[in-house]
Amino acid sequence: MTGTTGPADIGLIGLGTMGAMLALNIAEKGFRIAVWNRTSAVTTKFAAGAGELAANIVPTGTLAELVAAIARPRRIILMVPAGAAVDESIAHLKPLLAADDLIIDAGNSDFHDTNRRAKAAVAGETPHFLGIGVSGGEEGARHGPSIMAGGEAADWTRAAPVLEAIAARYDGSPCATYMGAAGAGHFVKAVHNGIEYADMQMIAEVYGVMRDGLGLRADEIAGVFERWNEGPLKSYLIEISAAVSRATDPKTGKAMLDVILDRAGQKGTGKWTAIEALQLGAPIPVIDAAVMARNVSSRLDERREGEALFGPAPKRFADGAVSLAQLEQALIAGKILCYAQGFGLLATASTAYAWDLPMPAIARVWRAGCIIRSAMLNDMAAALERAPTRSLIQDPVFIGLIRTAEPGLRTVVGQGALHGHPMPALSSGLSWFDLMRTARSTANMIQAQRDFFGAHGFERVDDTATGLHGPWGSHAPA
Ligand code: NDP
Repeated sequence: MTGTTGPADIGLIGLGTMGAMLALNIAEKGFRIAVWNRTSAVTTKFAAGAGELAANIVPTGTLAELVAAIARPRRIILMVPAGAAVDESIAHLKPLLAADDLIIDAGNSDFHDTNRRAKAAVAGETPHFLGIGVSGGEEGARHGPSIMAGGEAADWTRAAPVLEAIAARYDGSPCATYMGAAGAGHFVKAVHNGIEYADMQMIAEVYGVMRDGLGLRADEIAGVFERWNEGPLKSYLIEISAAVSRATDPKTGKAMLDVILDRAGQKGTGKWTAIEALQLGAPIPVIDAAVMARNVSSRLDERREGEALFGPAPKRFADGAVSLAQLEQALIAGKILCYAQGFGLLATASTAYAWDLPMPAIARVWRAGCIIRSAMLNDMAAALERAPTRSLIQDPVFIGLIRTAEPGLRTVVGQGALHGHPMPALSSGLSWFDLMRTARSTANMIQAQRDFFGAHGFERVDDTATGLHGPWGSHAPA
């Protein structure tokens, strides 16, 4: 740290929602930060509004000024939209920087892009490069995000003093962790976002059961979420679900939730997670279902036509068909199954890409600052500490939790199906669980079919030979 005069400790490009908050966070932690924004008026406004933190902020009008303002070897954070803007920023910086300077892309970049940029840096074509996933939204960026870093370990060592200082803290430890080479940090961030989609979808599904199946008002639902937030489901997303259920629309006086259109947006990180999981052959059906559900939600006109054709789906439950306790258990089970899938994907990617991802540390880095922070992550970190690549559903603590919660999930999904409640995420979780506990599945039929039409061969239950064929008569494979 250099204090309030002299060269800046670090630079930042992109004073949008996230960049502005990160810059204030960095300045607040006592670092002197030089900032530059493509639109100069934004820089001027930002510096003017920084209050007492302005003493630690060096506004600059050109990229050259920014670079000149930073102590060497330089560290420069990019907080611009993922994609072309990152490549353009690197291209503009390259002629101005020295070989040992470090560019830190803190946006939501696709990890394939980060791999490419990291490779160029390692080859000496560009300055050093780190790709870091930053979670926690605007509030997190300002007061403590969760940070998942990828790149060269030595570059992380250079960036860590600033990034650990601004990160969220859990029991005093910073939620900022080096995940591995190149795109490892952005990959972990993408999986975080995929899990976030699934967590949100499962909460929305139990909200739907309370609203349409049990006939509860939004304020009553708020009370349920508030109670759940004092138990095993304690988490940021349950907390904000209670808050949004409790809010009143200033325009109509109705519950805010009741006047919000049921069409959800997305920026693509959930879809990336689903695509990467498919590529890796790592099953994450709860996350897939959550991404799919957002896509379906946006087809509002088609859904309205469907309701006109077939009548509305969700029906009220008979008294006692589903209790609030069973709903809570369903969400607990769904959450465990979803995280088991997410960590399973991370373990598969870690092997496939030779990242050696620090599995327990991933659970730990998500315990504060990020959107999916929750009490349960503490137990998950402990489980992954016991066996980093073992599925959470095989950990002794989670075996116990699943045994307790599974009947609730089964009742909710079963009653939901009988009463027309769409539950893509919770039902996918249950099906996956049933698949994972079925030693004799139905894939023997798939193998027989494949052999019948394509001579793909099969193995027998009573023989170790491979490439066997069936007695398919006149259709027998050649
Ligand atoms: P904003 O749209 O608020 O800000 C974008 C910033 O990037 C602006 O300062 C803009 O400058 C600048 N910019 C855009 N294009 C270029 C370019 N070609 N060259 C240089 N500067 C450019 O975005 P956010 O702050 O919300 O997001 C930034 C990154 O952080 C994204 O990757 C996003 O996915 C990620 N992120 C966002 C979160 C959020 O909650 N918003 C959470 C976690 C990550 P100008 O003023 O000139 O337009």
